[in-house]
Amino acid sequence: MLEVKKVGIISCSGEECAGGGISRLAARHVLESTRPGRTVTICLPLFLAGGEEERYFARTFPTITVDGCEKRCAFRATEKLSGHVTKALTVSDILGAESAAAPSFSQRQLNPELERKIDTVSTALTEAVDEIMGKPAAAEHLLKPTVPPAGMRLL
Ligand code: SF4
Repeated sequence: MLEVKKVGIISCSGEECAGGGISRLAARHVLESTRPGRTVTICLPLFLAGGEEERYFARTFPTITVDGCEKRCAFRATEKLSGHVTKALTVSDILGAESAAAPSFSQRQLNPELERKIDTVSTALTEAVDEIMGKPAAAEHLLKPTVPPAGMRLL
């Protein structure tokens, strides 16, 4: 069986509702804090614009999409342009449609309630990574993020 070394996380780039911002910040938290070294991200706009490395990555490695709302732009784009999505999460499924559809926010407007929501989505995303790769060994969470493969970038 092929060993899974990295999981690609593709978050939507929604700016018009809170769900988009929550999905992006939750993805960043997983990449930087909960599962560094096990996850890489793919820039959705570049992916849509035809970035070959991004499409190659999503064809080759397991991918998790995390979308702000039920329109599921990241999921639909990935399935259309690259292939099968291993797991698809949606903020509106996790937090409810009302939370996802709330007005968008800037980093300066972050408050404890929004942070709790980001944390909830980040936990779901972390569990999805572990379902694909297995739980990390006890000390693995101490690893720093590795340099991503050429053409890949961390958020
Ligand atoms: S999934 Fe929803 S929040 Fe994300 S980009 Fe699409 S419409 Fe916007």
